[in-house]
Formats: sequence, structure tokens, C-alpha cells
Amino acid sequence: MSAGVRAGKGTGSGNQDTGRSNGGTGSGTGRTGTGNGTTSKAKKDRGFPPAESPLPGAVVDNHTHLPLLAPDGSPLDPDDPGIPGGADPIDTDTQIARAGEVGVVGMLSVACDVPSLAGTVRLAHEHAEIGAAVAIHPNEAALHAKVLDVAPDGLDADLREHHDLSPAEALERVAQLASDDRVVAIGETGLDFFRTAAGRGHDAQVASFRDHLALARELGKAVQIHDRDSHDEVTDILLRDGAPERTVFHCFSGGEKLARACATHGWYVSVAGPVTFTKNDALRDAIALVPEELLLVETDSPYLTPAPMRGRPNASYVMTRTVRALAEIRGTDLERLCERLTATSGEVYGAFWRAA
Ligand SMILES: [Zn+2]
Repeated sequence: MSAGVRAGKGTGSGNQDTGRSNGGTGSGTGRTGTGNGTTSKAKKDRGFPPAESPLPGAVVDNHTHLPLLAPDGSPLDPDDPGIPGGADPIDTDTQIARAGEVGVVGMLSVACDVPSLAGTVRLAHEHAEIGAAVAIHPNEAALHAKVLDVAPDGLDADLREHHDLSPAEALERVAQLASDDRVVAIGETGLDFFRTAAGRGHDAQVASFRDHLALARELGKAVQIHDRDSHDEVTDILLRDGAPERTVFHCFSGGEKLARACATHGWYVSVAGPVTFTKNDALRDAIALVPEELLLVETDSPYLTPAPMRGRPNASYVMTRTVRALAEIRGTDLERLCERLTATSGEVYGAFWRAA
């Protein structure tokens, strides 16, 4: 999620991890369900995509933002990163059911702003299929430091009440929940040099990233990294500070250089919807280089909907498209790939979806 930079409700968040500028995905366009409000597309084309046929094996969505909803289905926080643009959110039971019907048996839901932390951990306690990750998103880190300089992409930063907390106080909220046994990762943390302008904003992100890495190392939990236009800086910090034992590049957007660094250091590469985008040959080439045992798959829903469904909101059940694309890129048997991906999810996070 992006947090902090809101182009209008529902979208705002989004952006960030989306539209990875990698490989010419067309930066800023990756976001789904947002940004299309002014197009003349028929409304029926902008809702959640139809489900594909089931995968031949079980897989786990390693990174999603499940919406936090009141019993009547309305968002608890209108700026919740899990609220899609262009469609009503899908409630948790329906998310789980639809995902399960196509073979997506587990979901790691990522809370990366203060308002969504506790609710996401609660979801993970209430549903065996859901695990939680907690962190302060890099763009949120800049806002807690009261830095309002965003990169020149036209979106305004928007301070909310929770940004009154200092960076240290916000991190303390994360730390209070991080040792919970349903919290299986610290994330997403990292650097976003696309969204935040150089200077104090970058400094705030670097400090926050290093604090989150220290927390993950201390607790022995996996870390999920948000790396946007900052591959070299992220790599340098990991090597200098010491990467947690299980380090995951969420929505991998690097090229061959970063893919080789991941292979060398045993860092995991989590593949999201942009791998299906027509222009992303460089991303596909990079992902083809990653050792199979380091691959994971995710949606980052409600953002980053795979082709040809871009522009619609995303959900875990839509991940079938990304898994099939990955099998094609790798020239791998789909059933065997599903098995391998699920085994790796278990190695990185523990098989949280098999609890209870
Ligand atoms: Zn995300």
C-alpha cells in the first residue's frame, strides 16, 4: 500500500507498491481500480475480475491487503489500504471462499499503517487461512517524520491524525504486535524513491527500514521489503546491517542485477501481477534467473491486478493468472510449481494457513 499519498479515496493508497516503474510498466499506472474514475469504461468492466479455473495445486498469496470492514460491510477506515477503488470491498469470508475455490489456500495480509495494525492481526486470529505482517510503510515513515515532499508525480501528501505519532512511537505500535504468533512477517518496510522526494524523506525511510530490519532479526521473523526505484540502496542497507534470515522482496521489480543479488544472498523474490504486463520483458527475464526455491507469489491486492484485467481491483483469487504466467516464464509444470511455491511459503513464514 502506499499510504500517505492520496489521489482520492481508495486509490491513494494503492499507488505505491503498484505501478512499479520497473521494466517500463509505465510508472504510476500499475495501480488498479484507481485512476480510472474518469475514463468512460463501462462500470461492469471495472469491478472485480471473473475467477479463472482452479490451479492444479494449492498456493498461498504471500502479500495482500485485506480490507477491515464493519459487520455491515462498510470500511472501518475509508483510507484503509485494503479498500479497492471502483468496487465495493469483498468481505473476509467471501475472500477466503473465492480464493479457496481456485486453490489459493492462504493469504498473508499486510498492515503497513498504524490504523490497520491491530485489525489485521485480529483477522489472522479469527481465520486459519490468514496470517499477518506488520510494519510502517516507507511512505508512512516519511509522514510520521512530518516530511511532505513527495516526488514530482502530482500526488499530494496528506497528513492524518495518526501521523501525530513520531516515527519511534509508530514503530513501537508495530513492535507491540510483532511478537504475536499470528504475525509471521515484518513488512512492508523498505524504500520508495519513486514516491518520496530526496532529502529528509529518504532519510526518514532509511531510518525506519533499518529499525524494522533490526526488529525482524531480533524476533527471528521474515521481513517483506518494499523496494521502489531503490534497488541499490536497499541492497546496500541489507548487506551493511545484516539481512534477516528470511528476506523477501515483495512485488519484485528489479532487473537481472537484483535477481542475481537475491540468488547470491538467498533472498526471496515474490512475484506479483506486473509479471503479466506486456511491456515487462526485462522483469520476466530477471525472474527467469531466480533459483526456483527462492520464488514466492503474491497479489498485493487490491492493487496490481494481472493482465488482461488491469484497471480492475485485485483479490487473492485472481492470483491464478500470475501463477500461470510464472509457470510459463520458467517453463515449469504448473502442478509442480504450485507445490514448490507452497513449500517455500511454509519455509519462510511457517505454514500459518494450516493452523487450527
Ligand atoms: Zn503491499
